[in-house]
Amino acid sequence: MHTIDYLRVDALETAIATLRDDPSSAPLGGGTTLVDLMKCGVAQPSRLVDLTYLPGLDGIEACESALRVGALARMSDVAVHPEVQQRWPAVSEALLRGASQQLRNMATIGGNLMQRTRCGYFRDPTFSECNKRSPGSGCAALEGENRGHAVLGTSDHCIATYPGDFAVALMAFDAIVHILGPDGARSIPIDDFFLLPGDTPEQEHPLSQGELITGVEVPASPAARQSRYLKVRDRVSYEFAAASAAVGLEIADDGTVADARVALGGVATKPWREPAVEAALIGRSAGPELFREAAALAAAGAHPRQHNAYKVELARRTVARALINVPR
Ligand SMILES: Cc1cc2nc3c(=O)[nH]c(=O)nc-3n(C[C@H](O)[C@H](O)[C@H](O)COP(=O)(O)OP(=O)(O)OC[C@H]3O[C@@H](n4cnc5c(N)ncnc54)[C@H](O)[C@@H]3O)c2cc1C
Ligand code: SF4
Repeated sequence: MHTIDYLRVDALETAIATLRDDPSSAPLGGGTTLVDLMKCGVAQPSRLVDLTYLPGLDGIEACESALRVGALARMSDVAVHPEVQQRWPAVSEALLRGASQQLRNMATIGGNLMQRTRCGYFRDPTFSECNKRSPGSGCAALEGENRGHAVLGTSDHCIATYPGDFAVALMAFDAIVHILGPDGARSIPIDDFFLLPGDTPEQEHPLSQGELITGVEVPASPAARQSRYLKVRDRVSYEFAAASAAVGLEIADDGTVADARVALGGVATKPWREPAVEAALIGRSAGPELFREAAALAAAGAHPRQHNAYKVELARRTVARALINVPR
C-alpha cells in the first residue's frame, strides 16, 4: 500500500517551504483532478499539502481595470459573480460549461489551471507508451485512438489536448497568472504559462518545485464585456470540448470591428490564441459574412491524425458561431 501524509497548512510560506523541501509532495486544492490521478496510479505523491485553509486566497475582486481572482476561489463562485457575468461573460460561461455543479463547487481556480490531459493512454498506466507520464516511452496516441486529441501545437512526442475551458477564456483576454515560490513572486502571461509539448511533454508549466499559483488577473476591456464562450461536445453537459471558442468584439459606432479576441479550446495542446482571425476582423464591417470569412483562417497549420481531422472544420465553425452570437 502507498502511504500518503496529509498536511493542512495555514500559512502560504509553510506550504511553499514544505513543497520545496519535498519534491514528492503535491499541493491539494479541491482534489477533483489530483485524487482521480492518484486513484488511477498516475500521480503518487507521498505528501498532500492541503491549501484549502490558507487565508486570503479565495477573493474575487473586480475593479475598473481588471478582475482579480484568488487561487482558492471556487469555480462556481467565480462563474456566478455578478461583475464577472456582466464584464467578462465569456469567463463566466467557460466556467459554467466545465465539469458539473458538484465538481465546480469543490474545484479551485488554481487547480483548474493545473488540470491534466484526459488522454486515455496517459490516465491508464497499463499502457506503457506515454511520454507525458513516462518520458522517453513513446506515444500510444500517435497511431492509436486519437479522436479527442489535438490538431494544433502537437509534436511527434505528444498530441494530448489541453482539456480545460476557463483557461481558453483567459487566453482570449490576456490574463496574467500570479505565482509565489521559494524565490519570491512573479507574474506570467497566460500564453507563457502553458508550454507546448515539444520534446518534453511532461513539462506543462514553467513552475518550479514549491511555486504555487496565488491568483489570476484578467484585464478589463470592451471586447471582454462583449464576449462569448461556445463549447461543442459529444453530449450537452458533463463532457470535455471537441472544440470551443472564447471570442470578444468591440464594435465602433460606424459598425466596424475595433478590437477582436479569439481563442480556441479542445483542439490544441494548450489554450490557443488565433491572431490571424483577429487581424482579419479588425477594421471591417461586423456581420455574419465577415465572421465566417475570418473564422475560416482558424486552425491554420493544423496537423490532424487518423481520427481527429474533423476538428479542423469544427474549430472554424465554432469560431464563426461564437462570433455571430456575441451580443451587439
Ligand atoms: C468528471 C470530470 C469532468 C470534468 N469536466 C471538465 C470540463 O468539462 N471542463 C474543465 O475545464 N474541467 C473539467 N474538469 C476538471 C476540473 O475542472 C478540475 O478537476 C478542477 O478544476 C481542478 O481543481 P481542483 O481545485 O480540484 O484541483 P486539484 O485536484 O486539487 O489539483 C489539480 C492539480 O493542481 C495542483 N494545484 C492545485 N492548486 C494549486 C495551486 N494553487 N498552485 C499550483 N498547483 C496547484 C495540484 O497539485 C494538482 O496537480 C472535470 C473533472 C472531472 C473529474
Ligand atoms: S498524447 Fe501525450 S499524453 Fe497521450 S499517450 Fe501520447 S504522450 Fe501520452
